[in-house]
Amino acid sequence: MDDRDRFLQAFRSLDRADFLEGPVKSMADEDHPLPIGYGQTISQPSLVLLMTRLLDPRPDDKVLEIGTGSGFQAALLAQLAGTVHTIERIPQLSAAASARLERLGCRNVVCHVGDGSDGLPGEAPFDRIMVTAAAARMPDALLDQLAPGGRMILPVGQRWLQDLRIVDKTPDGRVYERNYESVVFVEFVGRYGFG
Ligand code: SAH
Repeated sequence: MDDRDRFLQAFRSLDRADFLEGPVKSMADEDHPLPIGYGQTISQPSLVLLMTRLLDPRPDDKVLEIGTGSGFQAALLAQLAGTVHTIERIPQLSAAASARLERLGCRNVVCHVGDGSDGLPGEAPFDRIMVTAAAARMPDALLDQLAPGGRMILPVGQRWLQDLRIVDKTPDGRVYERNYESVVFVEFVGRYGFG
């Protein structure tokens, strides 16, 4: 199976409706961001797929996601990587996501409640890191927790418009960054937010 198939097959095996509640459930197939409660949103499916492809997780990778939200992105990553650790600051969202992931049989996702600004020092390093909330600048701890040869993807910029940034750390520890395209995410709350 080539890589394109690997990502698409994982994506198609998920039903976005399983990650939504209430009236928006019926809009699950539309390619729009949708509300998940507490002022937060789930991204449009095309962006979830794009970010997953850009992150390029491999089967044995240890992945960190900041911003569990509904758990949809974590469920997708879980099919493509070894272990996924995901952090969410809103306990109710984390609990709901965790229950969904368990119901769907995603056994390799660990949900953490807390501020993702510091990453997860006890679990680092991570081969892949994905941030799904908009930061004003790069969270230093996350860069430190990225393994040599690893890749991180995150929206960085202003409150209502960010660059989707790809950060590569070479095996000898050099860091290369490039911006892929413009995106709009909800705010990364805390030290790396917009104050
Ligand atoms: N990946 C999610 C969508 C994330 S929306 C999905 O697939 O549904 C962004 C999430 O980031 C929100 O749930 C928000 O509460 C969370 N968030 C924002 N700032 C955070 C922080 N500092 N630490 C952890 N989570 C944070």
